[in-house]
Amino acid sequence: MTITNEIREQVRQRANFACEFCGVTETDTGGELTIDHFRPITKGGDDGLGNLLYCCHRCNQYKLDYWSMQPDEPSLWNPRREPAAQHFLELDDGTLHPLTDEGAFTLNRLRLNRPPLVAYRVQKRQQVEEIRLLTRYREMVQLLEQLNTQLSVLTEEQRHLLEEQRELLKLLLSGRQ
Ligand SMILES: [Zn+2]
Repeated sequence: MTITNEIREQVRQRANFACEFCGVTETDTGGELTIDHFRPITKGGDDGLGNLLYCCHRCNQYKLDYWSMQPDEPSLWNPRREPAAQHFLELDDGTLHPLTDEGAFTLNRLRLNRPPLVAYRVQKRQQVEEIRLLTRYREMVQLLEQLNTQLSVLTEEQRHLLEEQRELLKLLLSGRQ
């Protein structure tokens, strides 16, 4: 069996066009990524959608045809079965810290703390922070505009009051004469 274009497309879309192990996207790498058999064909895996992962070239290169055959051999994290947060903690400096044995093994095998990936995570964090700041800035500008509108309404009301007061004074003064 071979992987048809249709299946390949399904795997791509299901993964949001990003490597399911490390998160880099087609846009980041400037091209399509690879289709990986989570359980390699040579170790009894099949071409079913449940066994296919979208994977960047580098992760695929490090993963190769690893499959735990013995009970005492460590297993790789399966991104289709469990979320990354279950196995890794992303630290502020962009490195991943393993939370489980599977996480530790996968981190090591796929070199998920390779320097360009760490730099990539730091960049992502900065982008998120910039968007957050920009949103706050926009909210503040909106608030200032609202305040300005309210202020001009108040100024107008005050002007009216002053005019009325002046009219009243005029009346009072003319009444005395
Ligand atoms: Zn990757």
